[in-house]
Amino acid sequence: MTAQWQTELADAVRDPAELLRMLELDPALLQAARAAGRQFPLQVPRAFIARMRKGDPADPLLHQVLPLAAELESHSGFSNDPVGDLASRAAPGVLHKYHGRVLLITTGACGVHCRYCFRRHFPYADESARQHDWREALEFLRADASVNEVILSGGDPLSLSDQTLARLVTALEQIPHITRLRIHTRQPIVLPSRVDGALLTWLKNCCLQKVMVLHVNHARELDTAVTAALLRLRTAGASLLNQSVLLRGVNDSVAELAGLSEALFAAGVIPYYLNLLDRVQGAAHFEVSEDQARILIKGLQARLPGYLVPRLVREVPGAPSKLPLMDMPARVSPAGG
Ligand code: SF4
Repeated sequence: MTAQWQTELADAVRDPAELLRMLELDPALLQAARAAGRQFPLQVPRAFIARMRKGDPADPLLHQVLPLAAELESHSGFSNDPVGDLASRAAPGVLHKYHGRVLLITTGACGVHCRYCFRRHFPYADESARQHDWREALEFLRADASVNEVILSGGDPLSLSDQTLARLVTALEQIPHITRLRIHTRQPIVLPSRVDGALLTWLKNCCLQKVMVLHVNHARELDTAVTAALLRLRTAGASLLNQSVLLRGVNDSVAELAGLSEALFAAGVIPYYLNLLDRVQGAAHFEVSEDQARILIKGLQARLPGYLVPRLVREVPGAPSKLPLMDMPARVSPAGG
């Protein structure tokens, strides 16, 4: 049976002309959107479009999804694999970068296509941990007892069906040294109907510690339906963290970043990381300089309690962890623990 979220995902807007019409925007934007969309197609669920302002081409939610001519420019220092994913490949779709943690590329599918995505050129057709029913990935994990945390990534792992996910999670539970399951996802934000009974059932039944790392870049992404979905996830036992990307034209002001942290914490989510843009070809127009990023974080520190100030980080290929760009204060959980 097709779940409601699958129907909504199939009905996502993929035609730039339809998006411009829905938002009452200038049709002159269409030609560039079609050209840039040929490299990385437009895709955005209607539930996300409903949070955008009509008639505003600078809307921060729209800016994350509308293909622009700037994506077609080539910039030095920008590449197709800016974080060294392929160099860290340990088995098909298995990336091993950091001690104790292994990341599985579970799928190339996402709910939304974010124009700044650092995996927009990733060869998903060749690199999927799902091939042969996860066999090579599970063999790799069984053989390395130093790994205690598995990260489901993609693409968006919650694009997979609940049956597929439940089968994978059951297999992970049977590996004694795996204690933690981390899921990197944007689906509960762009498609809150994804957090349905079937998802909550396998999540509740999973005996691993569960961490969900969400991806929210602007406070207006969190509407009532999303907040309710996040509460359901917490009730199912998932700890919720957020990582944002610092994006020019989306969240590059103290006011917007502060509003985001406040909205996340009110929804029970720790504003954990603020990532500098990974320098992927096609996304140079989103970049905010390191100096400007530091100024923004200082502005946040002057305005917010320390636990609402995300850690400013950059991912550097080959480094043993994400690199912090500033010393950050200690933090507490939304429950006060
Ligand atoms: S949801 Fe994540 S993986 Fe998918 S396009 Fe957006 S940033 Fe990339």
